Amino acid sequence: MAVTPAVDLGPATALTCRECGHTRDLGPFYACEECFGPLEIAYDFGDVSRAGIEAGPRNIWRYRGLLPVPAAVAETPNTEPGLTRLVRADQLAEALGLRRLWVKDDSGNPTHSFKDRVVAVALAAARELGFKVLACPSTGNLANAVAAAAARAGIRSAVFVPSDLEQQKILTTAVYGGTFVTVDGNYDDVNRLASEIAGEQEDWAFVNVNVRPYYAEGSKTLGYEIAEQLGWRLPDQIVIPVASGSQLTKIDKAFQELIKLGLVEDKPYRVFGAQATGCSPVAAAFKQGHDVVRPVKPDTIAKSLAIGNPADGPYVLDVVRRTGGAVEDVSDEQVVEGIRLLARTEGVFGETAGGVTVATLRKLTETGALDPEAETVIINSGDGLKTLDAVAPVVAPTANIAPTLEAFRAAGLA
Ligand SMILES: *Cc1c(COP(=O)(O)O)cnc(C)c1O
Ligand SMILES: [Zn+2]
Repeated sequence: MAVTPAVDLGPATALTCRECGHTRDLGPFYACEECFGPLEIAYDFGDVSRAGIEAGPRNIWRYRGLLPVPAAVAETPNTEPGLTRLVRADQLAEALGLRRLWVKDDSGNPTHSFKDRVVAVALAAARELGFKVLACPSTGNLANAVAAAAARAGIRSAVFVPSDLEQQKILTTAVYGGTFVTVDGNYDDVNRLASEIAGEQEDWAFVNVNVRPYYAEGSKTLGYEIAEQLGWRLPDQIVIPVASGSQLTKIDKAFQELIKLGLVEDKPYRVFGAQATGCSPVAAAFKQGHDVVRPVKPDTIAKSLAIGNPADGPYVLDVVRRTGGAVEDVSDEQVVEGIRLLARTEGVFGETAGGVTVATLRKLTETGALDPEAETVIINSGDGLKTLDAVAPVVAPTANIAPTLEAFRAAGLA
């Protein structure tokens, strides 16, 4: 594909290999020419100030000066995700024996998961790079976000998901139109197929494959928002769900950038990763002290996190070890209990990934890995309405009664 020389991706200046440091010009590339390592965006940040950000749009584009997107990005149709609420979670904190806890509730995004952030950035970059179709392999939430963003942008989408996906996520993708393919295989099969298709379809931007360096930067906005919403400071501890591991590494990158730019005070913070035991290759590598992540075959109700061969797994291990955190995993039963605990204590209904994170928070607190006195943030990355099957067997109305006062009294509900 011919790249226009005048590509405007804001403060982004080049692509750099995470493994060997080799640098190349911005373009539709994702693997290093020298060593096939993953590419990462390099920046030259101009004047970025708290006041400038605060005066920006009430969505992720307030941070456009820190993202690989055109300066005028807010003027093109996109889904405008971000600035989701940071909920002070005193009752959940009390239930777990923590002092100060916040839930970053990313179910408030346009398609109800954090994926709208990464897709919005991928769409903006993909347009600038000349792609015509927005595509992805997905475990569900990404399919929602890509189909919606493409619809909003007036371009074609092509999304590929495992055929055993939750019915809710199938419907909430199909409704946006576009090309929507279910594939008889698990996510890792779908991902491999997408890479093969990307090799043939030159004007298809597979957001998490061939424009992955741009896509991944969208997760930084979670880190920026948490710091801004805490009054421009960093938490002491943060617990983040891990699928490919991209979100976790980019929240850390955001915190590092804020420190370097002087937007927050430099201080130590610890990053913790959360996985479901039925797909916990990063937690296993962490516990065994390994640098490489051995792929697994996923078997968990937390389908949005069911990536058996996580692209950013080794980088998650780097971040967690550098900051003094950990990666922990929890059973599907604990995931369901985590969903219910968050709903019961804070009125927030998270999806299975949120259940993984809450249950991991609990486990890390019980084992003493987390400091109960330190300020902690957890991410609720998706909406419980998309994974109703997880709670359907275990929640129900309190009673069913006739429409009479006698029936109410007899049921012992007062
Ligand atoms: C995709 C996803 C994640 C994590 O994504 P990474 O691949 O680790 O960046 C977390 N929660 C939900 C709900 C997701 O859909
Ligand atoms: Zn390289």
